[in-house]
Amino acid sequence: MHDLVIVGNIVSENGKIHGSIAIDDGKITGISIGTLRGEETINLGRGQAVLPGLIDVHTHLRDFTEKSKESVRTGTMAAVHGGITTVFDMPNTKPPIIDAATLRRREKAFMGKAYSNYALGFLLAGNCVEAKGANADFYKIFMGASTGGMFSEDFEGDYSCAPGVVSVHAEDQAIIAERPERPPEAEVLAIKRALNAAEKFGKPLNICHVSTAAGMTEILRAELPQVSFEVTPHHLFLTRGDYERNPLLKVYPPLRTESDRAFLWKNFSRIPLIASDHAPHTLEDKEGGAAGIPGLETEVALLLDATNRGLLGIEDIVEKMHTNPVRAFGIRGKGIHKGMDADLTVVDLKREWRVRPEEFYSESKWSPWEGKKLKGKVIMTVIRGNVVMEEDEIIGKPQGARIDVGDNRA
Ligand SMILES: [Zn+2]
Repeated sequence: MHDLVIVGNIVSENGKIHGSIAIDDGKITGISIGTLRGEETINLGRGQAVLPGLIDVHTHLRDFTEKSKESVRTGTMAAVHGGITTVFDMPNTKPPIIDAATLRRREKAFMGKAYSNYALGFLLAGNCVEAKGANADFYKIFMGASTGGMFSEDFEGDYSCAPGVVSVHAEDQAIIAERPERPPEAEVLAIKRALNAAEKFGKPLNICHVSTAAGMTEILRAELPQVSFEVTPHHLFLTRGDYERNPLLKVYPPLRTESDRAFLWKNFSRIPLIASDHAPHTLEDKEGGAAGIPGLETEVALLLDATNRGLLGIEDIVEKMHTNPVRAFGIRGKGIHKGMDADLTVVDLKREWRVRPEEFYSESKWSPWEGKKLKGKVIMTVIRGNVVMEEDEIIGKPQGARIDVGDNRA
């Protein structure tokens, strides 16, 4: 008899089956196409499916001196509400995470307060010595200034010294300083420089939020196995036209043309990672011109809705938000296999609902998709065998833990 058994459609990197997942002491202890017996059993209905816990490799959770924008608590509540079991915490906080002491402070901010699991980022900008002793889970480099204003004056130097996987915001500083509207060339030039460096040093590199057809073309053409990249839901579902109608949609990199958006969809199968770039601001700051869009509570549902419209398959969500994040960042202990942590995301593909930002757990109570009806919803989130969210309700105490990236700290 197992602690908990979930019976229904299971979608994992190994494909789709109908069967049972058994969980004991927070770990997956059995997977069967037959029926396993548990002290507690969750039977999923038709149109519902259990996926491996989804991972968002790009979120800004603010906290520190910016708790009015978001805190670890509200940001990770938003994560599990949206079906995300692990968030990657970006280090351009106030103060920024640029030394070992601040990273330790960040870890303390997460311990006992995080509802989802987390990976801790470190901001690299000429502080290589500090980075080596910091023991972060990944390293962030801004090639050009974004929220927080810090950027790397020497990308190759910072990247080559990074003691682990680097995520890079690729927009060229010289271009964006002159042209604050951030034209496509800013992204394309920075991506070319990043790819040259990746080829030269052969180290893992993740290029954040690729938004242009030309930028993505460069990455695909380079075919470097050590390079991964993200695309955001807002670049997949919105364009510059939407921004012209709604100035709150200001974001870096900016929303692009319909032809850029069409290119992302045409090459959707070649996008390795989908990440929200969840970037909460107060409405007041947004109205004052702050760049960023909150996304944790809409991203999976938007992809489910697109699945219902035939734009992708549910296995694409697993690939781009679980399997590839695990691979790109060397995450250990996750996935629907025996012996792994029982982190699971349960979705209902048929459920229709309307986006109501006032019901978000995020402090950021607005959304580009406010009022939009979506078909497909996350209905349950499980972390190490505990149901932490069910039907929009957060259950129990924060149980998130720091992830294990093993020896990605090369
Ligand atoms: Zn970001």
